Parts: sequence; structure tokens; C-alpha cells
Amino acid sequence: MLQQTQVTTVKAYFVRFITRFPTVQALADAPLDDVLEHWAGLGYYARARNLHKAAQLIAEQGTFPDVFDEILKLPGVGRSTAGAILSIAFKQRFAILDGNVKRVLTRFYGISGWPGQMRVEKELWALSEKLLPHERIAEYTQAIMDLGATLCVRRQPKCLACPLNEHCVAYKNHRTHELPTPKPKKIMPVKNVFFLLLIESNNVLLYRRPPAGIWGGLWSLPEFSTKQALLAWCGQQSENIQVVLDYPVQRHTFSHYHLDYTVLKVVCQNPKNNVMEADSWVWYKSSQVQALGMPTPIKRILQRSTEVIENGENGQVSKTGN
Ligand code: SF4
Repeated sequence: MLQQTQVTTVKAYFVRFITRFPTVQALADAPLDDVLEHWAGLGYYARARNLHKAAQLIAEQGTFPDVFDEILKLPGVGRSTAGAILSIAFKQRFAILDGNVKRVLTRFYGISGWPGQMRVEKELWALSEKLLPHERIAEYTQAIMDLGATLCVRRQPKCLACPLNEHCVAYKNHRTHELPTPKPKKIMPVKNVFFLLLIESNNVLLYRRPPAGIWGGLWSLPEFSTKQALLAWCGQQSENIQVVLDYPVQRHTFSHYHLDYTVLKVVCQNPKNNVMEADSWVWYKSSQVQALGMPTPIKRILQRSTEVIENGENGQVSKTGN
């Protein structure tokens, strides 16, 4: 969870997750849907799928590996996470280089250049390895991570309280605000999609997204690149369809693009159900969908839609009636 998200955000999710899956075996035995449902809201769902797969591998092997190359084979574990596991759990002399450590090292040594750049990353790994102590490796690893998380923070680092300030290049040269060098800005592309909220009686049509890619393995609304394609598809599902609501465009931002989406709420009668043979499609009671693993924006759409139904379609959304 902490690979991409801060402790303060993670806390509540972690407690709920560990209560439901208290052991590796419990996690390995759980259906993926259950795991994704407990992850919903944290984003970067590949982490949940990887964790689930890793638990199954470890349960199969019967023990957690304590060799670097074996740990690296676990899905979702990279060089830095493997180093953290080995140094903290197994007291072995391995380096880590997470975001916190990168910030401490670039500032302490005054290293310019975006840390994601190959040249800079190589230099930081070399330093991280060179600094490893021969004793108390677990405490050292925890300490350098915590230094970055609590004192050497992104904005307004607490240098006066920092035990390293006497030799810190960034502090002595008033460069803490410019280090680490930010990632060069690029304009994020925008992807436009239409989500179909297809209602039949009190049921809503959902489909499970393919395991790879954005929102992989989560339940979602059928997605189309144009309104025409959506309406044509609806026409194939039922001869009696009616668009009752056309929601304003909304934006969800991923790490590498913006998703601008429009939701069309369509009511149909006597659906032919010609997609239902595949396991990935389901008519779900609209009042119960919150129990499924689904992305937050889709949850919000469904919540809002339920409110609209309950409140008699108020002015929050625009009606097109076509
Ligand atoms: Fe970070 Fe300031 Fe400590 Fe330098 S002195 S390592 S910039 S907190």
C-alpha cells in the first residue's frame, strides 16, 4: 500500500485489509474480487492484484523467501522493496531507494537532475549501497525512510531539527526548495469516453474489466468511445430503450492521462441479454453494487444515480430525453 500512497491515507485501509486478511494464507485463499473491494479507493490496483498473486505464490512455497533474486520474482516487488524486506525483516545488508530516500540523498549530497533519470538513479543507488552500515541494518533502513517521511519532507523540510544539517549541501546552500529536481512537465493527454448506466427494473448492467490495464479486474460500467457507439450497442440489447439522463462531462486524472467521461443513463425493457453468456457481465441490484470491487469514480456515478432515483431526478443533472 505504501509503494505509492502516504501513511496517513493508508492507515484506515490497512486496518480494514489486515482485519479481513490477517495471514498470507487468508489473502491467498480469498477471491480476487474481495481483495479488490478492500483496496477500492487506494488506486493503482495492480498493487492489489500483485499482492494477491504474491500471497498465493508464498502460500504455495510454504515460506517467505529470504534470497534477493527469489523475492524479486514476487509480483509487484522491485529492487527497492526487495531491499527493504531483506534489510528490515531478515537483517541482510541490502539498500533501498524509495521516494523518501531519494529526497534525503539528493538534498544531502546536492545532486541535481530528476531522480527518475537513468544517470541520476544510478548515482543514487551507488550512494545508497555505499552508505549501508555493517550493523543494525534494519534500524538504519527504517531511519533513513523515516527521516525522509518526517523531517526531510517535500515542502518546507524541518532542517533545524535534522541530525544531518551540519553536512547537508542543500541546507547549507539554501537549495532545499529546488531538490530533488522535479520531473520535467509534460502535457497530459486527454481520453474521452462514454459510460453506459443501463437500467432494467432495479438492476444495473456491469462488466468486469480485463485483468491488465486501467482498473484491471474491477467491475465497471460498459465503456464506449462515442455516444453513437453506445446508443448503437444499446439498440442491440433491447428494442425498447430510452436515454433518461445525460450527465455533464467529468474528469478523472490518472498518473499519465486525464479521463474525461460522460455518463448516459439508459432505461431498457426486455433486454435480449446477448452478452450475458460471458462471465464478465452481470445485472446487479443497484442498491447492492457498493459491495463489489469497483473504481471510485464508478462507485460515485452509481451512488449519485441512486440518489437521483430516490430524490426524483433533481436539477443536479441535465436531461436530454433523447
Ligand atoms: Fe533534508 Fe534539511 Fe536534513 Fe538536509 S538538513 S537532509 S534538507 S531535512
